[in-house]
Amino acid sequence: MTAATRVAVVGAAGRMGREVCRAALEDDAFDLVGGIVEPASPEIGADLGELCGWGRAGVTAGERVPGAAEALIEFTTPEATVGHLSYGKPVVIGTTGLEEEQRAEVERAAQSTPIVLAPNMSVGVNLLREVVRELSQKLGDAYDIEVVEAHHRNKVDAPSGTALLLARAAAEGRQRDLDEAAVYGREGRAPREEGEIGIHALRGGAVVGEHRVIFYGSGEEVEVIHRALSRSTFAAGALRAARFVAGAEPGLYSLQDVLA
Ligand code: NAP
Repeated sequence: MTAATRVAVVGAAGRMGREVCRAALEDDAFDLVGGIVEPASPEIGADLGELCGWGRAGVTAGERVPGAAEALIEFTTPEATVGHLSYGKPVVIGTTGLEEEQRAEVERAAQSTPIVLAPNMSVGVNLLREVVRELSQKLGDAYDIEVVEAHHRNKVDAPSGTALLLARAAAEGRQRDLDEAAVYGREGRAPREEGEIGIHALRGGAVVGEHRVIFYGSGEEVEVIHRALSRSTFAAGALRAARFVAGAEPGLYSLQDVLA
């Protein structure tokens, strides 16, 4: 039997952090050795199992990364993500909304540390990315592309990292640069330009995550949809990535590399 991978969860008190803690506690292939919460958080010292509703686990939330951790899984904020790079541990980054400079810092850190950067940890979305690229290429310029995403009312970044990932795949299919093709929402006089890719974000209620990519032709429409029904799907992907990154050479990886 392969040894369990020792993981620590950064942002352990958050929505995703709790989900990952529970998934790690439920799976014998992983050993949850720590959970990092914000300095001065009221959760410091809390039992991680109780925090995620699993039951007493005997591992407490703290401010520091435990030395025993082979991989970190982090779902926090872009600022916190960059701060945590100094730990120098293999890390799976699920946090979205990183600015260009923050992404550059992740790339720099990946020169000496293995890092998986995955704005969507679901296997389905990562396969959908391939489908979108192919549809975009094969349907061609006669089909207008729009990406629509919906998330719960507390999500802070817009559009979602996944919407950008799918829009980028669509742009790649047309051999275009997304930065030039993207139009974020429309207002006022905003006629559709040739080749643009519209990206729209809806926010409300408890939606875990929905992404639609629509190809509008003049005689037909093709639409692909992904709906995340539970955060457990992201947690499962994050654990899979943790196992991968714990044994990887320094470098920056995507979930595609993990699934290959
Ligand atoms: P959340 O519930 O707000 O959780 C974030 C947690 O990080 C909070 O508990 C926050 O603590 C904590 N935190 C902030 N700074 C910290 C620090 N320096 N050290 C330790 N913990 C810190 O948000 P969420 O819904 O879990 O989402 C977190 C991120 O993951 C977002 O960027 C979201 O878009 C992304 N996400 C990615 C995927 C994916 O598949 N890749 C899926 C879902 C979500 P306080 O509340 O005390 O500030």
